Amino acid sequence: MPVYSDIVIIGAGPAGMSAAIAATRCGLSVTVLDRQSAVGGQIYRNIEHSSSELQNFLGKHYTHGLSIAEEFHSCPAKLITNATVWSIENGTVNVSCNGAAMSFCSTHIIIASGAVERPVAVSGWTLPNVMGAGAADLLLKDSGLTLDAPVIVYGNGPLLLQSVVHLQQLDIPIAGILLTASYRNFISSLPCMPQALMRPTYLFEGMHMFLKTLGSKAPVFFNVRDLSLSHEDKQLMASFSRGRKSHSLSGQTVLLHEGVIPDTRLTRLTGCLHDWNSLQRYWYPRTTCWGETTQQGVYTIGDGAAVYGAEAAALQGTLAGLECARSLKKITKKERDKKASATFRKLKKVTSTKPLIDTCFAPIPSKLVPTDETIVCRCEEITAGEIRKTIAQGFLTPDGIKSQLRTGMGQCQGRMCEQAILEIIAQECALEPESIPTYHIQPPIFPVSLGEIARTDASSN
Ligand SMILES: Cc1cc2nc3c(=O)[nH]c(=O)nc-3n(C[C@H](O)[C@H](O)[C@H](O)COP(=O)(O)OP(=O)(O)OC[C@H]3O[C@@H](n4cnc5c(N)ncnc54)[C@H](O)[C@@H]3O)c2cc1C
Repeated sequence: MPVYSDIVIIGAGPAGMSAAIAATRCGLSVTVLDRQSAVGGQIYRNIEHSSSELQNFLGKHYTHGLSIAEEFHSCPAKLITNATVWSIENGTVNVSCNGAAMSFCSTHIIIASGAVERPVAVSGWTLPNVMGAGAADLLLKDSGLTLDAPVIVYGNGPLLLQSVVHLQQLDIPIAGILLTASYRNFISSLPCMPQALMRPTYLFEGMHMFLKTLGSKAPVFFNVRDLSLSHEDKQLMASFSRGRKSHSLSGQTVLLHEGVIPDTRLTRLTGCLHDWNSLQRYWYPRTTCWGETTQQGVYTIGDGAAVYGAEAAALQGTLAGLECARSLKKITKKERDKKASATFRKLKKVTSTKPLIDTCFAPIPSKLVPTDETIVCRCEEITAGEIRKTIAQGFLTPDGIKSQLRTGMGQCQGRMCEQAILEIIAQECALEPESIPTYHIQPPIFPVSLGEIARTDASSN
């Protein structure tokens, strides 16, 4: 039988933990499920087990996670780690936990599954030692692993600047910093500056990272395009263009990054409506200010709802926890509003920098479209050229292409190829991705054995 609690929360990052703290304070029973072996999510990953050297190195933005984790552990929520949610059906959440099948049910499900790094499909991105900049940071947090040097950094976004600063602090040589943003991005973001001044410290820190990047000993290139990676003489070669000139650099590791995007697999699986963010080019679930989606009883908060960062994720968690308590009649509407008013005020301040960041680091659509020889679906090794031929035959949706080429049917279930396929269709058909249907998401969203599925069905019955 599935285990019942008032709320099931998926994700123990800042959003999920804060929702659990707020809900249990109102007297609700809460189960929190997370794929990782400990709480923290992406930003506070491994926070409870990391060395003091690492904590000192990553600073207060990382160690702040310790106080949230401590508060979470002192609340009566039930935490189940190593628990991968692979389906949600009619209020039942199916989980694979160390090879065992488990099910949880509730009338209130909070999806706090966070964001993923936007996969950057460039020629050669499947080569060894080519990885996401965020992924490299997670390696550092998880196991203190550093990178083979020199490192080539490519792309756009605040996390990319953070990676550059980390490399500098660790004295890891950088061969080159290739930024896809153009100066125009910075100019168009200027009108958003007055609103962003509500958060001066954050702005100052961002500016500091930017200046450190510009002041790097390594060459910095703006408006880079046509990156192509290859392996030559035990080195990674990066060839790219800037203006009319072609350049090349060699290194041992390449970090790619074009921002993070909400992981919408669970909200799509539950049938929630989504909207398109045309600036940051991602889909995000439509929600109320309390995080409730268009599906009754399904909430989503944090970076999985829209990428606002860790502080906003925690505040949204508190709001969703309070709203669930109201909905389950543990507190009145008046009590909810009273408890939530300070949180809403903080959220307004914390999100004031969002328009500036989104505009300044807006990905340039033409740079997200892979060239013909680029492998787009890593699982089935399908190139952009093969996808273009299939589009020319009249298959104009990701699912249509999947039916012909098996894209999205491998281990990652479309996580790595979907964005690039949307961009290719948009370019070939001169459409906005907004008007192109996404992959139809079906369970299991993570690989799970048939034995486990059978055991889940038996236990649910
Ligand atoms: C690779 C990466 C690195 C990042 N690094 C930084 C950084 O260094 N600094 C920074 O400011 N921001 C960083 N971010 C952004 C950061 O993730 C957020 O701002 C913040 O962590 C959002 O909090 P959250 O609670 O919404 O999600 P998260 O912190 O991402 O937490 C989501 C949790 O949900 C769990 N989960 C997801 N799907 C499932 C599932 N199906 N079943 C069970 N559990 C699931 C995950 O294991 C995770 O623990 C990073 C993002 C990414 C994608």
